[in-house]
Amino acid sequence: MSKLEVAHNKPWEQARFGLYGRVSTPEQKDALEAQMSDLRTRVLAKNGVIVAELSDVGTGRRSKQRRGYQQLYQLIEKREIDYLLTRDLSRLSRDLSNLDQTWRFCHQNGVVIFDTQVGVVNELYCWALGLVAKLMPSIGAEQVRTSLAVKARKGLHLGRPPLGYECVEVAGEKGHLKVVDEDAKIVKRIFARALAGWSLRGQARALNFEDGVKSPRGSRWSSEAVRYILSNPVYRSTILWGRTKTYFHAISEAFQREDRPEAEWIRSLGSHEPLATEADFDSVQAILAGNKSGTTNKKRGPAVFLSSLIKCPKCGRPDEHGHVHGGSMSVVGGDGRRLRMRCINANAGKCDNNRTFYRDHILQAVLQGLIDHLRSPEALTMFIEAQNTASKRRLEEIGTSRRKTEKRIKTLDTEIKRLTDHIAKGLSATALGDGIKLRETETRELIARLEDIENSSVTFELKPPSLAEYADMAERMMANVSTNSKDPGDVELSEHLEALVKHVYVHPLVENGKKTFEVEVFGKLATLVTGSLSYRAQHCKGKSGKDILTQDTITVARAAQKLVMALPRKRGSGRKPPRKQVLRRLEPDLARILSRSAVPLTASGIVSKLAEEGIQRTVTAVHNALDRRPETFVRIRKNGFMLRSRWARQSVRYFTRTAEIVAMAREVLEESRKPMQPDEIIGRFHEEPRSRRIYGDDELAILRTVLSKHADDFEAKGRQHARWILRASSDFEPSTALAA
Ligand SMILES: [Zn+2]
Repeated sequence: MSKLEVAHNKPWEQARFGLYGRVSTPEQKDALEAQMSDLRTRVLAKNGVIVAELSDVGTGRRSKQRRGYQQLYQLIEKREIDYLLTRDLSRLSRDLSNLDQTWRFCHQNGVVIFDTQVGVVNELYCWALGLVAKLMPSIGAEQVRTSLAVKARKGLHLGRPPLGYECVEVAGEKGHLKVVDEDAKIVKRIFARALAGWSLRGQARALNFEDGVKSPRGSRWSSEAVRYILSNPVYRSTILWGRTKTYFHAISEAFQREDRPEAEWIRSLGSHEPLATEADFDSVQAILAGNKSGTTNKKRGPAVFLSSLIKCPKCGRPDEHGHVHGGSMSVVGGDGRRLRMRCINANAGKCDNNRTFYRDHILQAVLQGLIDHLRSPEALTMFIEAQNTASKRRLEEIGTSRRKTEKRIKTLDTEIKRLTDHIAKGLSATALGDGIKLRETETRELIARLEDIENSSVTFELKPPSLAEYADMAERMMANVSTNSKDPGDVELSEHLEALVKHVYVHPLVENGKKTFEVEVFGKLATLVTGSLSYRAQHCKGKSGKDILTQDTITVARAAQKLVMALPRKRGSGRKPPRKQVLRRLEPDLARILSRSAVPLTASGIVSKLAEEGIQRTVTAVHNALDRRPETFVRIRKNGFMLRSRWARQSVRYFTRTAEIVAMAREVLEESRKPMQPDEIIGRFHEEPRSRRIYGDDELAILRTVLSKHADDFEAKGRQHARWILRASSDFEPSTALAA
């Protein structure tokens, strides 16, 4: 201890000590206690004074996060200690610059750092120890990495188990993955949906709101979390390790991650059960790679012709406007160049239309039907007739407009002349001058309008493409469908045609034992070429040929007029017809609907109520609107919503009523001893002599909720929870039967 006396004027006996210890994990608490007691004995043996015993548990990456260390700094600053005693310098910090800073700080405040391994710490020691401390963890990490790599090569999983698995120990070896059925279901569902063409965001939304499952981190799903699942090769039984390396960055005092070159990755075949087949996993990767190229619609380039409009006729539900909701057909994979489509509900097992169709076959059938109709002589005649009628009417309109404008200009001219005469006769020039100016302005405007009219009639006489030209375009497009071309010249045409299509049904057919199908095209396009709401075309190399052109001329005239209007004014501009934007705010509607209901409504419940009022909204839109206004709407449990004001008033009553209803339902069911329907139970409530009624019109809804929520008390019997029985008595019956 001679060094100590030399380094400090104060003798050891009277000195004031600050003790500091640190361990990196809470499991090492015993070690920390050992550290501290060792320091304590050393000081007390020499009759020193312990001012403070400070310690931290943690990796100590950031000195700011270490409370003990902070307190120590304060003690040093106030000069309340003479010695800072620690087992070794790395307890203070592993970082060189940090250690140097601490040493300087102590030095300035007359505090000596004493390391029990080396003694008094001078500046040189501080540097040397700091360097060692800096080198040590990296050596340690390298050792750890080697041992982990050995494990990874054996096909053992390292670290936290991925969703769907748990890590178990087999024959003393940790890291064997075992399937957890419930989680595995989620993983499988995510893969199935990805194959069905769901977007990452759509998946996250469905997991959060419809399935109500938590993400592997125990919070909400994000699209990134879904992507992580889909791209984790562990699900096809590959153990992949060493994609990144983590190191400690001294300047930012934080761990940082860096990608390793692919050659250094360790791949091995795991012994665990895969949750996705290799083929599925690979096609999901292909889909993900496709998504990556652009995150927004704009970047994604031209949309595939009709891709969102192809619907399943079995489960698509048309609304009163003829728009089909649900039952979309989506890409379910393909063989490299060609893609196959299937009903998304069939993928989820909710629709029995299990057939898959090649997408190019569908498009060919649609286009072939279009071409056949366009090329038919009847269509040509009808189109010319309608075209003539429309042209005539338009020319008449222009004529009327021109006549009116010319007449007005003449009147204005006369008026100006008259006013000028008045000025000449000596009347107030300022007052009349204004009148003349106004009239002159109007005249100029009218002359400009007249020019516009002339021009527009010129534009109009530029002929819209004839039916034959249309048919040519459709044929060109069909050629592109077969060759998968993305010629930008056709984007305009495809957008133009698409704007005329509401949806396309694909009807599966079996003819002479051969599987085929028929498309049914709805929308203006169909009206245009056939005059009826839809046209059908069969997929086959032959003709679709059936004569569907049976309609009255009025429809066709209107249809042709629509065609004239629908044509882009300037060809080649490539602009999409503007989508009708609905800017109506939903909140008042939601508040109205929720204010009527005494029980919380789910978003889909609200959607159906909105639909009754003629407001079409998606569940997502409603969800968003409700979640955006937490001050107005309150979310109850997972999926129920209520007006916040109403809920505050009702919550107490709601809960007392719930308790009351449980008790009453219990009594009734105990008495009855056989399953009862909720309405029957309500009926008994009303028979009660004390007239213990449940008030309100929603009593049945509340009772149903109560019955299904109190699974410990009540048990559902029969189909779809139609009838209920007291759980105690249903348990009771079989055992008495057994006893008998
Ligand atoms: Zn379907």
